[in-house]
This record gives sequence, C-alpha cells and structure tokens, in this order.
Amino acid sequence: MNTAGFDLRRASDTLQAGLPQYLADLRSLVGIDSGTFDKEGVNRVVDILERWYRELGATVERQPGDVYGDVLTASFQGTGPGSVLLIGHTDTVYPLGTVEACRMRADGDQVIGPGTADMKAGDLSIVYALRGLLDQGADLPKIVVLHNPDEEIGSPSSKEVVASLSSDADAVLVLEPGRENGDVVVARKGIMDIQIWAEGRSAHAGVNHDQGRSAVLALAHLVTAAEGLNGSLPDLTVNVGRIEGGDRPNVVPDRAYARLEIRAFDRDVLEGALDRIRRLVETPSVEGTRMRMQVSVEHWPMHRSEGGERLYQLARGIAGRLGLDLGATATGGASDGNTAAAAGRPVLDGLGPVGGRAHSPDEYVVVSSVVPRTALLAGLIAALAHPDLRDPHPA
Ligand SMILES: [Zn+2]
Repeated sequence: MNTAGFDLRRASDTLQAGLPQYLADLRSLVGIDSGTFDKEGVNRVVDILERWYRELGATVERQPGDVYGDVLTASFQGTGPGSVLLIGHTDTVYPLGTVEACRMRADGDQVIGPGTADMKAGDLSIVYALRGLLDQGADLPKIVVLHNPDEEIGSPSSKEVVASLSSDADAVLVLEPGRENGDVVVARKGIMDIQIWAEGRSAHAGVNHDQGRSAVLALAHLVTAAEGLNGSLPDLTVNVGRIEGGDRPNVVPDRAYARLEIRAFDRDVLEGALDRIRRLVETPSVEGTRMRMQVSVEHWPMHRSEGGERLYQLARGIAGRLGLDLGATATGGASDGNTAAAAGRPVLDGLGPVGGRAHSPDEYVVVSSVVPRTALLAGLIAALAHPDLRDPHPA
C-alpha cells in the first residue's frame, strides 16, 4: 500500500522519543476537572487543544456552547481526495473536585487518574499523530478533528455536528480507549429509552377494594413480561431501570411509572423488541387500566458494515507492521461511533491508547500502548489519503 512520504517506523521512533512529553501533556489535561456539567473546566481543556491545533496550522473553529462546553473542530486541507473525521470528547464523568482528590499517578506500566483513558489520552493521541504526519510531510487526506464537550451524556449539543461531519467523511475514527486486551471496537449496540405511564382507578383498599384498578399491578405484569424479552431476539437486552407508583398501603394505586431501555446490535431487533413492548402497553393485564409510552432513540446501532470491516482490516495490517495483533470487539456500550455509523460511514472505534476501569477513580491508561496506538492512528490516517480505500458500498 502506497502511503507516500510516511514512514511508520520513523513515526514510532519519534513518538517513543516524545513519550515523556506526551505523559507531561496528559498530566496537564487530566489535571483539569472537565465533567460534562462543568462548562468552564471543559473549555479549559478545549483552550489547550485549540492552541495545539493552531500550532499545527489547522483551520480551527470553536462553536460556543450554551449549556455545555464549546465544540472544537480543527481541519487540515490534505493533499489528496480522501477524507477522514477523527472524534474525541473533552468531557469526563467526574464532578468538580475529583482531580484535587485524585491526581494522576504512575503505577508500573499504568498511569492512573480520572479521564486518563476516557479519553484524554485519545484526544492527545490525535494531536501527536497529526504532528508526526505533518513533520514527515506525508500525503494527507482531508482531516477534520472534532472534539465535543458532552459525549458522556449522549452528546445532546453535538450529536448533529457528529452526524453531519461524519456524512462528509470517507471514514470515521473514534478515539475511545482500546479495550483492556487491546481490541478496537467494530460494533456497538443501539439503545432505545422507553418511559411507560400506567393509569388505573383508586379506591379504599379496605372498604371497596373491588372498585379499584391497580396501576401498580398492571405495570408489574408489564415489567415482568418486558424483562422476559431478554434473549428472545439476538443479543437483545431489556433493563427496567426504574419503577414507581402508588402512594400508601390503604389506597389502590391509580398511577405507576416505569423507565426501561433496550439494546441490540441490529436495528431490526431493536424495532422488533419495541413492537413487543408496544403490544404489552396496548393490552394491559388489569382490566380498566390504561398505559401509554414514550420512546426516544438514544443511539442507532453501530453495526459491522462492509466498509467498517475493510477499515478494520486496514488498521489490522498497519498494526501488524508495528508488532501488534489487533483484535476486534463488539460492545453493548454506545459512543459517538454509533452516530457516525448511522450517518452511513465506515467507523472504527476504540483506537485510543489501551485503558480500563473507565468511569471509576482507578481509571488508567497503559503507558506501553501509547506509542504503538498513536503510530497506528498516524498510519491509518496516512493510508486514508488514498482514494482507492474509499468505500464504494457505504454501510
Ligand atoms: Zn468516552
């Protein structure tokens, strides 16, 4: 494969020499609280990234956030017809004050700290990979980097820009952490969030119990039936995460509420499960009760498309030249990769440095994975400069 002007081995050596600086930069990023709801903190991370992209000569755009932090995009024109979108989020799940209590620390081959793997190392690897490519004067595709401020709560303010930038790209690379075994992520489940309200008729539980119509009972039957759908369709999970209803023991309850989510790798499975739940809602088990529901599609599945598979094989080949055996994982968790895939483009996720225990105080990144993963990212971007890799059959 012709990746003109780009030497993978040299990129890897440069990254290795720069590893102490990478870790110092990671410490700076991790040392800033940037929970999704901490707009100022997120924007301090954005400030640093923005400065680095300007130094690299990118065209930088910063779209101020109303509620959340700013959306940062950095673009490089490229030398060929190919194009790639790189995505990394700047928010973490940790509340203000976490950093103070929990500084980044080294432990053997790990650096531990809030937001290390998920995903300040991923953000940083984008910068380092691009710097390596530009230093070598490699042929480049058109590159757009998107750093969004709200991925950890489902990207409410940035989902649209993720979708529109994705649909303009030949390939989308998402820098969520590599799995603990080093795998990248090639498929993610889609998620529907479903709320159900049950309505019955209240009555005195002692005087005229028979006049009552229990919304709690009707909903309880529905909950059991919905949970019973687990495994009834391929890879389907149903989780009733919340129920509430009624008021006091001497009143037949006329109101109840449940909130559940369903997940699956296949869009048809999700829609099939939704149909079954809708039927349960339309035919309550307790006569005289009624139910209604509201559905929100949180994410469509990132399924294993032909284009995605080709992208993975391309990455696997480059990884092999770096001495890595790059495995592929499908996961039940969603990311912006779902949105990118729903835009019909080939997506590869989990390309960041390897890490684990995300969303916990002991979150870590594996130091020895930083150089090969970042070199892999650079190699993949260089390879995408060539239009023969364009996907003729988008997902
Ligand atoms: Zn993440």
